[in-house]
Amino acid sequence: MFNRIASLIEPILPELTAFRRDLHSHPELSRREHRTSEKIRAALAKLPNLEVLPALTGTDVVAVLNADKPGRCLGIRADIDALPIQEQTGVEYQSTVPGVMHACGHDGHTTVLLGTAMVLSKLADAIPGKVKFVFQPDEEDEGGGRRLCEHGVLESPKVDGIVALHAWPGQPVGTISFSRSTVTAASSPFAIKVLGVGGHGAYPHRSVDPIVISAHIITALQTLVSRVVDPRDAAVVSVGQIRAGSADNVIPPEAEMAGTMRYLLPATGEKLHECFRRLVEQTAAAHGGRAEIRIQQGYPPLINNAAMVALIEGAVCDLFGQDHMVIEDMPSMGVEDFAYYAERVPAAMFRMGIRPAHLGDYPHLHNPGFNFNDEALPVGIRMFCEIVRRFFNVTD
Ligand SMILES: [Zn+2]
Ligand SMILES: [Zn+2]
Repeated sequence: MFNRIASLIEPILPELTAFRRDLHSHPELSRREHRTSEKIRAALAKLPNLEVLPALTGTDVVAVLNADKPGRCLGIRADIDALPIQEQTGVEYQSTVPGVMHACGHDGHTTVLLGTAMVLSKLADAIPGKVKFVFQPDEEDEGGGRRLCEHGVLESPKVDGIVALHAWPGQPVGTISFSRSTVTAASSPFAIKVLGVGGHGAYPHRSVDPIVISAHIITALQTLVSRVVDPRDAAVVSVGQIRAGSADNVIPPEAEMAGTMRYLLPATGEKLHECFRRLVEQTAAAHGGRAEIRIQQGYPPLINNAAMVALIEGAVCDLFGQDHMVIEDMPSMGVEDFAYYAERVPAAMFRMGIRPAHLGDYPHLHNPGFNFNDEALPVGIRMFCEIVRRFFNVTD
């Protein structure tokens, strides 16, 4: 049965390409993916052997293949949201929404998962278990993955393992890369308010200048990574925003900063949090001011599960050959909300090359010139179908 996969994908590619380009023309921001989820729901409703579930959090779409069959359940997740970026690709199907575009390839992820559902719905009898297709909103903003997990997306039916992919412009179409352990970092967004005493710029001795204090804090923060974290470990502390003042001759009463900490190990995160607080509070105090600090617990690290990685590795070698497989030895300091699934069930994510073979360079994710490459659609569908075959040990 599964050896028919290529012949099942070929005829649906024009429809899938049109679907992807339609999503690309109508991108929707996080938690507002109403049109997108309606399109997905309508396409899934036409498929046999598939039960489309009521939404759990608003714009999500979850569907289960072989819902009544006993046996294990494999989840496959795609993210569906776009970004607040003005598109500059110039393609004829470019975004019709000013300031919003699919710059992270989620239009492609969504279409690959839809195509996988279309193919597997024809092979349902050959699969001795269930497949749960998760179309997840809000990957780019607040982490829709966490909300879906908290709302039971991994229950009823219970998911025994889950996979996902991300489009990767750094590699050519047909190349798959993955990590055998940590894929992405954990994050802790922070905000600092420095409280001083405002006054005239010409009489600084009558003020406590929060701008000078902020400058010392920003400089002191650079020592967290260089002097607090074990040099063999990895961490990042970046201040991304600073706001203060209203005139050139006024010392303002306060200054605000915001930024992010990234780290791979929970123990490193705890140490960073503690040292960050001490450094910021006492640097402010040393200059006669005060600091209010807010540190959020952001995304957990994404750690690929060995058994799920083995399915991916087997699939790449079988479908494309070992020379199309790249092992990522170093984790990314970016974050990914697929980590919330991976905290709960065996999970693995792989990166799928989308750079056209004849190009040496391709616009990267979140760049206004980025566009998913439709040539990669069949690659993703074949990967997911082969992972399903291996998960259920289907031999024919
Ligand atoms: Zn993104
Ligand atoms: Zn993305």
